[in-house]
Amino acid sequence: ASKSDGRGRSKFFSTDLLASAERKRALEEDLRDALVRNEIRLVYQPLVHCQSNRITGVEALMRWDHPNEGPISPSVFIPIAEEAGLVGRLGDWALRKACEDAARWPGNLRVAVNVSPSQFSDGTLPHTVVSALATSGLSADQLELEITEGVFLGDTAAAANMFATLKKIGVRLALDDFGTGYSSLGYLRSAPFDKIKIDQTFVREATLPGSRNSAIIAAIVALAEALGMDTTAEGIEYLDQLALIRRLGVSHVQGWVYSKALSCEDLVARLEDGKWAIEPNGPAMQRSS
Ligand code: C2E
Ligand code: MG
Ligand code: MG
Ligand code: MG
Repeated sequence: ASKSDGRGRSKFFSTDLLASAERKRALEEDLRDALVRNEIRLVYQPLVHCQSNRITGVEALMRWDHPNEGPISPSVFIPIAEEAGLVGRLGDWALRKACEDAARWPGNLRVAVNVSPSQFSDGTLPHTVVSALATSGLSADQLELEITEGVFLGDTAAAANMFATLKKIGVRLALDDFGTGYSSLGYLRSAPFDKIKIDQTFVREATLPGSRNSAIIAAIVALAEALGMDTTAEGIEYLDQLALIRRLGVSHVQGWVYSKALSCEDLVARLEDGKWAIEPNGPAMQRSS
């Protein structure tokens, strides 16, 4: 990828506010046709039961292969899509594509799909979910929707209705990035989640001396158990982090220590080979910098 394509997208100027606003506008423009140009794809990261090391599901993660800039992270383009009103189209595509892919996997593997706040509140989500399930033949309990605390910032009555409708359809609900919002406990009271995903920020320093994060993780696990919910720890990279997470009773792990996100073909190849277990592998321990 070139450093500059002559349209003000120079990486050199990317710290400059004006340049970054311009780059954002250029990306927004490109994002409008990205789907029809086949630049968007899904990759799948294993969710692993951390006592047995067995894959129980995967999370679908979006990737954008930009023709000039190369791969662009969803943490960059999803917020742009959200602002530009494009996230609904991208999100619907991801939902349909993930269901289509997952319906062909062996062993009733579960697939988790991220749902953005605007997708959640625009009212069409139940229809899209029902249609994606019907078209693909995937059973509802194999589909998990990952929702962030952002969905609660809008109309709370409408959110409660949406949760009830989705539960009636039979899909599973996961609360993503738990602990990063403003009133996480309030959300747990009002919504029927099956799973809490503990945000990576809690894991990142949990093994370092003096960190309070392991106490917080233990409390989240106790809370989830009392409410009948599963827990998944995100972003585990080191073997000592995995050991700690296991000791704290977290049931599932998603992280590079097990696997990065895989293409659909690579995932299928591994499962068809019967490789449902993954041996953890990674640097032994995180050191304080
Ligand atoms: P998320 O839903 O919290 O997804 C987990 C993120 O953690 C992914 O980043 C994943 O690649 C990353 N991750 C997993 N294991 C590790 C690890 O061991 N170390 C580190 N450093 N990172 C790890 P990714 O793929 O860049 O996605 C970022 C965010 O973009 C996602 O966070 C999600 O909020 C959003 N996103 C991705 N795909 C979609 C989508 O299809 N729709 C919507 N609405 N949002 C999406
Ligand atoms: Mg997620
Ligand atoms: Mg997350
Ligand atoms: Mg996140």
